[in-house]
Amino acid sequence: MDIKANLLAVKKSFQNPECKLIAVSKTKPIEALKEAYEAGIRDFGENKVQEIQWKQPEMPTDTRWHMIGHLQSNKVKYIAPFVHLIHGVDSYKLLKEINKQGKKIDRVIPVLLQIHIAEEETKFGFDKAELNEMFADPDFLTLSHVQIKGLMGMATFTENQDQVRKEFRGLNQLFEELKSKVLPPFVQLEEISMGMSGDYLIAQEEGSTMVRIGSAIFGAR
Ligand SMILES: *Cc1c(COP(=O)(O)O)cnc(C)c1O
Repeated sequence: MDIKANLLAVKKSFQNPECKLIAVSKTKPIEALKEAYEAGIRDFGENKVQEIQWKQPEMPTDTRWHMIGHLQSNKVKYIAPFVHLIHGVDSYKLLKEINKQGKKIDRVIPVLLQIHIAEEETKFGFDKAELNEMFADPDFLTLSHVQIKGLMGMATFTENQDQVRKEFRGLNQLFEELKSKVLPPFVQLEEISMGMSGDYLIAQEEGSTMVRIGSAIFGAR
C-alpha cells in the first residue's frame, strides 16, 4: 500500500482544493499513520476512544485527533484533554457531558453536531426537531466549554448517487438555515464534515469543507 501515492491521488482529485482532509486511520497500525504524517498529513480520524488513546502518545505532538465515530458519554473524559474536534455529537446529553468534562480541565472543546441525513435508522444524529428543542432550552445558553464549529453527516450506504447528493444537499441547506439564525456566540458554524472514500467528490460539490477519507488512503480495512 503506497500511502503517499494514494494521498497525492486523492488530493489531486479534489473538486475543492480548500476542503480539509481528515485521514481516517481507524484499525490501521501506527506505522501507517507515521507514513501519512511524513507525507504531510496532520489530521487523523479515529472512531474508538481506546484506539485514539493508545495512538495519541505514539504520534508527534502536532498531530490533530478527530473523533469521528459514535461517542459514549462515559468515555468523553479520556479524550477531552487533547481531541482536536469531535465530529459525532449526536445528542444534547452528549454535548452536555463534553461541556462538563471541558469545564473540569478548563478547556473549550470544539465539536460538530451530527445530523441524521441517511435513510438507515441505524445511523446516528440529530433530526431537525431535536436540534430546535436543544436550541430552545435555556440551559443551552449556559454551555461554556464547548464550541460548535459546524455539522457532520453520513449519507446512506447506496450505489444511488442521486440519493447521496440529495442527502448532502439537505445537510448544506440545514447548515445555511442555521447560519441565518440567532444562536449563542459559542456556535460558530464554519465546517460541514461530509464525504468519505466513496462519496467525497459529490460531498465537495455539495459544499463539504471537511472530508473523512480512510480506505482510499490506507487501503481496505
Ligand atoms: C470509517 C469512517 C470514515 C472513512 O470511511 P472510508 O470509506 O474508509 O473512507 C468516515 N467517516 C466515519 C464516521 C467513519 O466511521
